Amino acid sequence: MQLALSKDDQTFVDEVRAFLAEKLTPDLREAGKRAGGVFAEFEAGHRWHRILAEKGWIAPNWPKEYGGTGWSAIQRYIFAEESVRANAPRIFFMGVRMVGPVLMRFGREEQKKKYLPRILSGDDVWCQGYSEPGSGSDLASLKTRAERDGSDYVINGTKIWTTFAQHANRMFCLVRTSTAGKPQDGISFVLLDDMKTPGLSVKPIITLAGDHEVNQVFFDNVRAPIANRVGEENEGWTVAKYLLEFERGGDPYSAGLHTAIASLHAIAKAEAASPGGMLADDPAFRQRMAEIEIDVTALEFTEKRIMSALSNGQNPGAMSSMMKVRGSETLQKLTEAAIEAIGYYAAPFEPEARALGTNIVPIAPEHGITAMPQYLNHRAASIYAGSNEVQRNIMAKLVLGL
Ligand SMILES: Cc1cc2nc3c(=O)[nH]c(=O)nc-3n(C[C@H](O)[C@H](O)[C@H](O)COP(=O)(O)OP(=O)(O)OC[C@H]3O[C@@H](n4cnc5c(N)ncnc54)[C@H](O)[C@@H]3O)c2cc1C
Repeated sequence: MQLALSKDDQTFVDEVRAFLAEKLTPDLREAGKRAGGVFAEFEAGHRWHRILAEKGWIAPNWPKEYGGTGWSAIQRYIFAEESVRANAPRIFFMGVRMVGPVLMRFGREEQKKKYLPRILSGDDVWCQGYSEPGSGSDLASLKTRAERDGSDYVINGTKIWTTFAQHANRMFCLVRTSTAGKPQDGISFVLLDDMKTPGLSVKPIITLAGDHEVNQVFFDNVRAPIANRVGEENEGWTVAKYLLEFERGGDPYSAGLHTAIASLHAIAKAEAASPGGMLADDPAFRQRMAEIEIDVTALEFTEKRIMSALSNGQNPGAMSSMMKVRGSETLQKLTEAAIEAIGYYAAPFEPEARALGTNIVPIAPEHGITAMPQYLNHRAASIYAGSNEVQRNIMAKLVLGL
């Protein structure tokens, strides 16, 4: 494996850094830093989306003919890493990362023409309607029903944990079009063109951290044209699985984790240790930070190994499951150390003081303001995008042959 950057790649790093330095305004960086959850505050993330779209850098994973960047795997890694380091707001990516690649592979020509340019520009915001109460890991058991009526499907049922459905104008969803045969055989993949379609309602679910990130969506005789189906009727499971490959492969974990370690160091320098002195000088806490740092460095090198494999045309296979498990668990360890480090300041519940542009002075010092929300929110990292237990099952099967 070649780890040193080539001259061209080094030039690319400089280009990316110059772009980020110019375009990431202080308020956008603030939105990146203050994010309590998976994505940055929606409006700031969306503004960043449009800036990247204008530059032609919004879809590094798309083929060039559809508006992708044409970057190598190494360049994509560099861009993601530099963006995280510079505190770019994390963009809500269901359009670019998920439904876009699905449309390129399974969509009809008119669907590609209609949807892909608007995903790139940010004119459309897509949310993901997969999970239902009782159908998460066992997704194929989903019950939301679509019945034909003339040229439409009429949809009834509910979807849950739908991230940012309150901001989306479109939704891609899995619906049951048949109950015959295996559960996987009766599913279809349907696009909803308007989140304001009569019969569709979005109810917020407020997280423990006080954020409105997820929702439950109800369908009461919601009509969607049959022409909005992607792929054949009852063959949506193949489309659904293809999309999930993109949900797990994404930004490198290590870049975000290195940034989180830097924040932990800052907290440790500012907070007192109980035997006296600062936490940063406390041997037990230093050892803990060192252990986490070793985990993150190991993860970084594994990511680089994957990147090297990808640039040689290989498939990441079970490695992406391994990264999901190690990445999310290390993230959880880090956020746990951070709330222990800020001690009592973890307790105040003050989501309004985290809002961008607020004039509310938080009780917690600036370095501790997102520690608790991030701790709470990142508990979900081992659940979403395929729970860690399910990832371990995949590894047991693919790697150990069990
Ligand atoms: C923050 C967040 C955002 C989300 N956003 C979206 C979204 O935008 N759209 C969407 O469709 N979904 C979304 N989800 C849903 C997510 O995909 C599901 O939560 C996930 O698939 C797990 O399903 P579940 O919650 O029903 O848990 P369950 O599947 O009921 O799992 C419960 C527990 O049982 C374990 N388990 C289940 N099956 C097995 C097995 N076979 N072997 C071993 N252990 C098992 C799980 O690991 C877990 O610990 C989101 C979830 C979260 C937390």
